[in-house]
Amino acid sequence: MSLFANKLQATHDRSNIGDEMAVLELKIFPADILRSPTDKVTDFDEALAKTAADMAETMYMENGIGLAANQVGLSMQMLVMDVPDEENPTASRLKTIINPEILESKGEVTWDEGCLSFPGLSVPVNRAETVVVRYFDAKGERHEEAMDGLEAICLQHEMDHLAGITFIDYLSPLKRKLALRELKKNLATP
Ligand SMILES: [Zn+2]
Repeated sequence: MSLFANKLQATHDRSNIGDEMAVLELKIFPADILRSPTDKVTDFDEALAKTAADMAETMYMENGIGLAANQVGLSMQMLVMDVPDEENPTASRLKTIINPEILESKGEVTWDEGCLSFPGLSVPVNRAETVVVRYFDAKGERHEEAMDGLEAICLQHEMDHLAGITFIDYLSPLKRKLALRELKKNLATP
C-alpha cells in the first residue's frame, strides 16, 4: 500500500538495511501475477530472509508502507509492512508477515487507499477496524498479534494481494472503469 492519500510519510531510520539489498521490479496493474493467489511458504531459509529484506528495500524506495510478494513477481504468501506510528514517526515498525491468517476482525473503517501497483490511484475501501492475525516471520517464528488503525488497513490490503485481489475489485463496474481510465492517464504522464 502507498501513503500518497494522506500526510503520513515513511521517514524512518534505515541504517539497519545493508548495502547488499536489491530493489526488485514492481509489477504494475494489469500484470497477471496480481490476479493470481500466491503459494504458501514452506522453507524458512536464508533465501527467504534475503527476499524479505529486498522486498523491504523496494517498499522504502517506492515510499510505500506495505508490499506483497506478488507485487514484485513472486508467488509466495509473504508481505512486508512498515506503518509509521503517529506518536513516533521516525521509528521503524518493519514487519515481515508470512502465511498470515486473520483469526478475528471487528468494526468497520473506510480509508482512501493507495497501491504501489496502481500509481497515483486512490480508492476508498471498507475494512475491518481491528484484526487479530497469526503469521510467521522470516525466521519461522510464529506470532499472534492484534492490529488497529492504518496498520490493520494495510495488513488487509496486502493480504488481499496474496489472494489475487486488488482494491479496484471493491468498486462498482462503473467506478472501476473510471479508476482504470485515471490509472492509464497516470501511467502515460510520468
Ligand atoms: Zn497494493
